[in-house]
Order: sequence, then C-alpha cells, then structure tokens
Amino acid sequence: MPWLAGYPREKVNWHPTIALEKCVKCGMCMNCGKQVFEWTEEGPTVARPQQCVVGCSTCAVLCQGQAISFPDSVELRELYRRNGIWKAVRQALEQEGKVPGKVPPKA
Ligand code: SF4
Ligand code: SF4
Repeated sequence: MPWLAGYPREKVNWHPTIALEKCVKCGMCMNCGKQVFEWTEEGPTVARPQQCVVGCSTCAVLCQGQAISFPDSVELRELYRRNGIWKAVRQALEQEGKVPGKVPPKA
C-alpha cells in the first residue's frame, strides 16, 4: 500500500507515545497489527515506532485510558505537501488500479 510512495519512513515523525500514568492496562493497543507495541511488567511500551503506519491513530482512538498521543497532524500534512508525497501516492494508486487514472499506453 503506497502510504509514502517511496518517501523514507525514517524522515517522518509519526508514532504513538504512551503516558503510562494514564494507562489503565486495557490492552487495546496490543491489537495493532504492526507489532509497534510490546507488553512489559509496567504495561505497554512503544518498541518499534518506525513500524507505525504514517497517519494511523487507531490505537489512540481505542485506548481506554486516553493515554496514547501522536505528533501534530498539521505538520504531517505539511510534510506531505512539501515533498509531493500525495501526488506520488496518487500515481502509485493509479498504477495499482485502485483509483481511476490515465489509461496506460498499449505495449
Ligand atoms: S497508529 Fe495504527 S499502526 Fe500505529 S501503533 Fe497505533 S494502531 Fe498501530
Ligand atoms: S490501550 Fe491505552 S490504556 Fe490500554 S493498555 Fe494501551 S496504552 Fe494502556
């Protein structure tokens, strides 16, 4: 899935941060399919922040303690705009046939 269309993930500041003092240990964050979190004796920890899908905030929505936060989405949008990522994503989606685009030239 072309979330970044080749833009380096390590240059994007997007990952969850847990305020452990708010965490009620509900475990909902452990449902993340990207293995971003690991459970420790103190509760969840952000073990692999770079595996977080850029722009996703599902775990924060489901968190029962409202303990998970993310960087400012306005900054993320600005980064997308400044680096032409949206355009590249759109082109990748067209190539994958997920959105209508230009008809590809016949071989
Ligand atoms: S935002 Fe999405 S991908 Fe990132 S850690 Fe939360 S559930 Fe996983
Ligand atoms: S979802 Fe929130 S409250 Fe639940 S274990 Fe994770 S950080 Fe703690």
